[in-house]
Amino acid sequence: MAEVASYLGQHNGLFISLVVLVSLLIGSFLNVLVYRLPKMMEREWQQEYQAYFQPDASAAASATANTTTPERFNLAVPRSACPKCNTPIAARDNIPVISWLLLKGRCRHCKTPISSRYPAVEALTAVMSGLVAWQYGFGMLALVLIFFTWGLIALSFIDIDTMLLPDSLTLPLLWLALVFSLTDSALVNSSQAIIGAAAGYLSLWLVYWGFKLLTGKEGMGYGDFKLLAIFGALLGWQQLPLIILLSSVVGAVIGASMLAIQGRDKATPIPFGPYIAAAGFIALLWGEQLTNAYLNYLGPY
Ligand SMILES: [Zn+2]
Repeated sequence: MAEVASYLGQHNGLFISLVVLVSLLIGSFLNVLVYRLPKMMEREWQQEYQAYFQPDASAAASATANTTTPERFNLAVPRSACPKCNTPIAARDNIPVISWLLLKGRCRHCKTPISSRYPAVEALTAVMSGLVAWQYGFGMLALVLIFFTWGLIALSFIDIDTMLLPDSLTLPLLWLALVFSLTDSALVNSSQAIIGAAAGYLSLWLVYWGFKLLTGKEGMGYGDFKLLAIFGALLGWQQLPLIILLSSVVGAVIGASMLAIQGRDKATPIPFGPYIAAAGFIALLWGEQLTNAYLNYLGPY
């Protein structure tokens, strides 16, 4: 094991290739997570609502549900199937990116088009993880940051679909970042991480309430605060101004182009999570260089 680690440490190209291959498979899993997690949450809310407000109806409903419908629905069950013809997807048709290309983006059986977003998410996961491996080289830090990258991709696409950033993803990532700061591998020490988490949450919380008091509108949600708290814990409070700046720039550019292309109504809410995730990922890769370049631009003191 130690020999494998030392070999990978010396051969970064091999490490990057391994990360890209594994991340393609993870990307395939992230597609499942993005699709199913919101549905699982919705079911849970319905059950909780019924249990709380209509306990009798809930008992009756679950009694009939047990006898009629298969209730099991999680990340593993049931198997992935074509949404149109319900044919389970065979292993050979489930190879990341390649299967989609070979099948020309259609179901093998009923030829229904399959969204190009699935191979896109797989490719994006591979590229982003490969970038982290390339930037940091083999080690605990790279592996942890790659894991966070996977979480960011899942969160971004769930936010795009549902305008939600589930606590079941944001909170474990936040804890993990805080605990990781206790180790020698972390980018920042624990005090920087704790201050980062609190400052990340509070800064957007303040923006949110300021915006709401001034305009009566909600520009973002509590999930966005938690997402920035994750970056604060992972990269330290020092990176937060850069992330906020980058996310507003990215948000403004994408928002303006969407408005121009689709003529999107200004009142239509656009999820803010993907912008924070994209900005945080840029800071994760090149934060120090960007901050230094900016300080150099300001000139020597
Ligand atoms: Zn089909």
